[in-house]
Amino acid sequence: MAHQTCMSRKNRVCPNRTCPHFRQPGQGNIIRHSFYKTRHGRRRRYRCKACGRTFSSTYGTAYYRLQWSRATFDFVATMSVNGVGKSAIARTRSLSRSTVCRWLEVASRYARHFNSRALEGYELTELQADEIRTFVGSKQRVRWLFTALEVSSRLWVGLVVGSRSYANVKKCLFEVLRKGRVHGGFLFTTDGFDMYRWFAQRYMPGACVHGQIIKKRRKNRVTSVRRSLSGGTRRQLDYALFRSEDSSTLNTSFVERHNLTIRQSSSYLGRRTAGHARAVDALEEHLELLRLHYNFMRPHLALRSGPEVRTPAMQAGLAGRKLSFRDVFAMRLILFLWELVVNWAGSWELWWRGGDLGWSWGLDLGLNNT
Ligand SMILES: [Zn+2]
Repeated sequence: MAHQTCMSRKNRVCPNRTCPHFRQPGQGNIIRHSFYKTRHGRRRRYRCKACGRTFSSTYGTAYYRLQWSRATFDFVATMSVNGVGKSAIARTRSLSRSTVCRWLEVASRYARHFNSRALEGYELTELQADEIRTFVGSKQRVRWLFTALEVSSRLWVGLVVGSRSYANVKKCLFEVLRKGRVHGGFLFTTDGFDMYRWFAQRYMPGACVHGQIIKKRRKNRVTSVRRSLSGGTRRQLDYALFRSEDSSTLNTSFVERHNLTIRQSSSYLGRRTAGHARAVDALEEHLELLRLHYNFMRPHLALRSGPEVRTPAMQAGLAGRKLSFRDVFAMRLILFLWELVVNWAGSWELWWRGGDLGWSWGLDLGLNNT
């Protein structure tokens, strides 16, 4: 279904900047032209009646000008989100390392824009936030990964990479709040890091019950755990826990388990390996791809209902089915948006024009239509 919608001629647009129908869908100017051969079978070429330019069926998708099969491209992305490093991926398919790097860059760009559009409108009932410590380049350059998990749907809602600062805590949590729907009194649990308390007291007074788990460690072992209620009353906490399907006491175990999943799925974050990220960009890039895969493609074992195992996005009501890399990489819309953002430096008017032109985000993906 989704593929048919994606591939239909009506949705195609002319890539020629000097054409009067440049990037305008539904003008009736695009016709089938011919086929061309690739190593992996024949592909169709299209022609614009207005300017005469021809272009391939993959124009605007992540597969544009790909010399290999689309399945190989998807395979590289799949390996990467399963914790395999770039060099190892290159070896398994006899690709060059630079090809793998380039593909993963493209894949991450699509993932980022997919995440920024599709990851919103979720309901916040129980939120847990935590940090992962890692380093970039050399062991001296410590970087922190702030993650936030919506526990009831297991949706990975917040992600920021940077120093362990208040600015980054704010950035992470603001994104979560801006894109989610808050119904009063949600449960918010974090570790003992003071900045979470500052944030909750300053920006969410009355909106959430904030509890902190303060762990004391000696020689990497937890020697004592103290639970502290830093926002809201005892009664509100009891009610929030009573409502929660997952927690019976204040805890951060869901986000900690999730952080372990992230570590296991990323060759950059594995402990005691030489695979750490050489640059912050490479790490952030990889995490966006990982987040796309975790939320929309990977069935979560905790979300089983009968024989069906759901993805966090399905549980949160953001997607009607499990998506695949093919669904996301075959979309053309994203590249246009990306180019608009780059060319017009975030002009909202242009951003919204995409909507006026009838590009329906939900339609292309089969989102929300089970
Ligand atoms: Zn044209």
